[in-house]
Amino acid sequence: MSSISRLLLSLFTLLIFLSLFPPTITSQSQPEQEDTPITRFQRYLRIKTAHPNPDYASAVSFFTSEVHSIGLKTLTLEFSPGKPLLLVTWPGSDPSLPSILLNSHLDSVPAEPSKWLHPPFSATRTSDGKIYARGSQDDKCIAIQYLEAIRNLRMKRKFQPLRTVHISYVPDEEIGGFDGAAKFAASKEFQDLNIGFMLDEGQASTTDEFRVFYADRSPWHLIIKAVGMPGHGSRMYDNSAMENLMKSMETISRFRENQFDLVKAKVAANSEVISVNPVYLKAGTPSPTGFVMNMQPSEAEAGLDVRLPPTADPDLLRKRIADEWAPATRNMTYQISEKGPIRDYMGRPLMTLTNESNPWWSVFKQAIIAAGGKLSRPEILASTTDARYMRQMGIPTLGFSPMINTPILLHEHNEYLKDSVFLKGIEVYESIISSLSSFKGGSVEASTQVQ
Ligand SMILES: [Zn+2]
Repeated sequence: MSSISRLLLSLFTLLIFLSLFPPTITSQSQPEQEDTPITRFQRYLRIKTAHPNPDYASAVSFFTSEVHSIGLKTLTLEFSPGKPLLLVTWPGSDPSLPSILLNSHLDSVPAEPSKWLHPPFSATRTSDGKIYARGSQDDKCIAIQYLEAIRNLRMKRKFQPLRTVHISYVPDEEIGGFDGAAKFAASKEFQDLNIGFMLDEGQASTTDEFRVFYADRSPWHLIIKAVGMPGHGSRMYDNSAMENLMKSMETISRFRENQFDLVKAKVAANSEVISVNPVYLKAGTPSPTGFVMNMQPSEAEAGLDVRLPPTADPDLLRKRIADEWAPATRNMTYQISEKGPIRDYMGRPLMTLTNESNPWWSVFKQAIIAAGGKLSRPEILASTTDARYMRQMGIPTLGFSPMINTPILLHEHNEYLKDSVFLKGIEVYESIISSLSSFKGGSVEASTQVQ
């Protein structure tokens, strides 16, 4: 045997040896080898489901195998091509009772890696227990917590639910949910689930009290346009486009101030008033160096982000826009695009009752207390979630993410969640899921929403 073939043979032997007896793992990689609630959370956080190209396929296959590992069934629905929705079902012993739905969106907003302490898809866990990742608060935590709570109830505590419990993992919430929760809520499949009560995402609490949300505000995109005679920049005359637009902006500003004063005086929370914020202004006659300065333009336009709490009357606001913000008498036109429902199928405001007349509320509240938690005063969410589509179907829905003593970091740089907060959340859901799924009462009448 030549020296080269001897060398090759010994190399070959070494390779065989290494494959049979791999070197002991280093301490650094050790946590990655474990399979715990935390590492499962990290694995999900590493799946890049951020827009504009969310990897839904990997997320769905991750959950499918997790769900199968606890002996439950999944169903993949696809209401829009390439946008799967995963439905998990834990059958109750009395399937005739309305079921419980736990919802979580698969997608997240993008992240700018250069602005982060740790890469946003690394799910780095620091020595003080912070898990950094895009989606750690919004809302990948609840996605895993639902499943871990069910895993514990089912595998460790041998708990058997009376009511069927479903989890829905839905696409596209961060871009409006139109191809996700909206289509799901309107589907035959959804109707067949016979849902009596639902939980969706909430927000972190900076105190030691959990926050809960009974409604979302509805977003409107408002564009107002003014037209008028163009004229020399030196002339003062009535009804120029700019003058007409400025008059409207003054009126809108006064309305905005009045609403904001209520917040400043602590009469209402931020989410309880109508917010109006200008987001763009468009006017002027372009020139090679910028704008023609001695000419008053014939068109001017403004875009406004408007948010209505469910307590506001949308018809009154529409009238205000027509009469005061963009009156035809001042050559103004307007366009409102309502980004989602504002009333349920019965014409009622999209709100879930949080008093004793809603039996689900009492069960939910007691379950939080039983888990050693405290609830703060129920709130309206300032932004929107998929919950509005379910409330539209008349299903009582609460927004809840069990994160106390946590800064609110959704959509921000360096979004993180502490491991201890994440683990406590699993316990809280064990209490909530076992209570809700054991609840015997709640007639169809009582489970509907506010009048
Ligand atoms: Zn979210």
